[in-house]
Amino acid sequence: MTAEPVIDQQHPPAALPATVRASLSPSRAADFKTCPLLYRFRSIDRLPERPSVEQARGTLVHAVLERLFDLPAGGRTPQAAGDLVGPQWDRLVTEQPELAGLFDPGDEPGTAEFLRSAAALLEGYFAVEDPRRLEPAERESLISAVVDDELLIRGYLDRLDVAPDGALRVVDYKTGGAPREAFEARALFQLKFYALVLWRTRGVVPRVLRLLYLKDAEVCDYSPDADELLRFERTVVALWQAIEQATARQDFRPRPSRLCDWCNHQAHCPAFGGTPPPFPERAGAADPLRDARSRPATPGADE
Ligand code: SF4
Repeated sequence: MTAEPVIDQQHPPAALPATVRASLSPSRAADFKTCPLLYRFRSIDRLPERPSVEQARGTLVHAVLERLFDLPAGGRTPQAAGDLVGPQWDRLVTEQPELAGLFDPGDEPGTAEFLRSAAALLEGYFAVEDPRRLEPAERESLISAVVDDELLIRGYLDRLDVAPDGALRVVDYKTGGAPREAFEARALFQLKFYALVLWRTRGVVPRVLRLLYLKDAEVCDYSPDADELLRFERTVVALWQAIEQATARQDFRPRPSRLCDWCNHQAHCPAFGGTPPPFPERAGAADPLRDARSRPATPGADE
């Protein structure tokens, strides 16, 4: 499968069309849609977020599923996936030392239970898919497109499958233990975001957007059409314009919802009696292409 990205993925700043003046990832767009203040805390204030055990488990399971497809098809067994859990966790902790802080030094039972819980999610994966029968076209692939001449949209796909007839299937692994209804709209928004990028770069509307809920061992398929993606594109552009306006006015309001239970920033949120930090002085002049010059959140890091 040959991708036809509109920019050079290795050197995005140099290769960006001159008209592009901002970039947006599905995670950050979904933040603003969910709660403008959450967007501010994450994208403007850049408040630190301590990874939760659940997020770490998601990152680990995504890593195992990515590596699983490195194996020859016949070797992609539940046992092989289980065998990848420990080594992948060691690799992640080496690359992201903050993950080590999730467990007290010497808390081997805690770590072992965590690894077992990741393995249990992988069992959920094998209940809904047989990876021996699949040959993904892409895994953890950075895709991007320019919409409305000015906005670069980009993000990482968990997996892209391409059928012999060229049909595309975008697959997203969901590992969170949160109630699905609390996050499904956000998950679908992200998948449509990827579908829009693929449509704009390859001229093909993905036939299926698939959410794989590993905890529940369930599959949720959605089939978009071009009209819908056209409307979605307008929504994304309007969302970006709303972000620009909010930034110019320094006005990001909290929008409380069930998702607040998973928000790292209640202590700073007026909806919970907190006070936001002073608006960063240079936020209005912040580099709107900053995200295009750095690696966006990887799949699994946002669950
Ligand atoms: S606690 Fe809720 S309302 Fe406040 S910033 Fe987080 S998501 Fe928004």
